Amino acid sequence: MTHADSTPFDRHRLVIAVDGTSGSGKSSTSRGVAERLGLRYLDTGAMFRAMTWWLLREGIDVRDAAAVAAAVGRPAIESGTDPRDPTITVDGVDVSVEIRSDEVNGAVSPVSAVPEVRARLLDLQRAVIGDGGIVVEGRDIGSVVWPQAEVKVYLSADPDARAQRRAAEQGGTDVASTQQSLLERDRIDSGRATAPLTMADGAVHVDSTHLTLPEVIDQIVALASTPRDTGTRDA
Ligand code: C5P
Repeated sequence: MTHADSTPFDRHRLVIAVDGTSGSGKSSTSRGVAERLGLRYLDTGAMFRAMTWWLLREGIDVRDAAAVAAAVGRPAIESGTDPRDPTITVDGVDVSVEIRSDEVNGAVSPVSAVPEVRARLLDLQRAVIGDGGIVVEGRDIGSVVWPQAEVKVYLSADPDARAQRRAAEQGGTDVASTQQSLLERDRIDSGRATAPLTMADGAVHVDSTHLTLPEVIDQIVALASTPRDTGTRDA
């Protein structure tokens, strides 16, 4: 609510990396932290979803890694970084609703495992992060995209809790099938060769299973308010 929370880091350069499993609450948490600290916000998952949506719309076989690799340079993907109103466009068209479809949920992890997809989006992600002042959520932010982040968080929650929250967000969709979809994405995201989901060096593990959203936000704001013993923070 206020930007008065104190942080020993230079707010304009601070990068907070929030990685974790599907449905662990990364988006709500990251947006809340960004609002509290007056930072920008980047949802890298939305970028992978936007790429996947575009491939599906173009009729490209998302299981054909060579076909996907050949096409990755074509769509213009842009992310807005206001935590109160994050936007995602493909070739200028707002796709924020379309990228949450079941079709995209089922195709995004195989697409994200293609190294050329990751390389293209890595460039875009680093360009948005720029000089910092941002909370970035994803799977490989603290390990690959921005290993020098001053604050790194690995957010997790029990599969039951994740599925129940996600199904509730989606207006009461079937919890069992939601859980199956989340676990399948975790399986592919954790097992891929390039930039798998992992707890980055220096990351703090926050298990949100029994915490409310404000409690998780408080914990991360507290981390950003505590100087680290070691690390790369600006003086
Ligand atoms: O965060 P979200 O669930 O929207 O991410 C959708 C998918 O995008 C993930 O399941 C994963 O396959 C991919 N992803 C990724 N690396 C990131 C962010 C998301 O591979 N940094």
